[in-house]
Amino acid sequence: MDCIFCKIVSNEIPSVKVYEDDRVFAFMDINPLNDGHILIIPKAHAATIYEITEADFLAVTSATHKLAAAVKKALNPDGINLMQLNGRAANQVVPHLHIHIVPRWSGDGLTICKWEMVAGDIEKVKAVAEQIQTVLK
Ligand code: AMP
Ligand code: ZN
Repeated sequence: MDCIFCKIVSNEIPSVKVYEDDRVFAFMDINPLNDGHILIIPKAHAATIYEITEADFLAVTSATHKLAAAVKKALNPDGINLMQLNGRAANQVVPHLHIHIVPRWSGDGLTICKWEMVAGDIEKVKAVAEQIQTVLK
């Protein structure tokens, strides 16, 4: 399979690794938004949240929890953004699931995860919640 992140896991493409276990691989983003920008991925290929197994997703989130604590200790950021993009409409570029850890410092000028709050129509919000709950039943 021609997947750049699978090739990183198999070491066909070099990366700056920070963590590895049975299911998970984590490495530094090659275009860091800030110091300490890490990508955490499952070793088994899964394009998005829809394809990954629950066990692999739990392993990836567990490693993210561990790495966020390590980043806090090592770099002492003022905050941390976790990002996980699915599909082109959500701006996913590499179709192998990954969680971004992006350390944040006050006044760093990054505009990620910053949006204007606009009050929703509560009736529409409730109708959409019902649609989702119907599927969950
Ligand atoms: P996304 O938009 O969530 O799919 O982000 C993909 C991320 O992968 C970007 O932040 C890229 O900088 C990063 N990336 C792409 N290729 C590599 C690579 N070879 N090594 C490390 N990071 C990479
Ligand atoms: Zn892959």
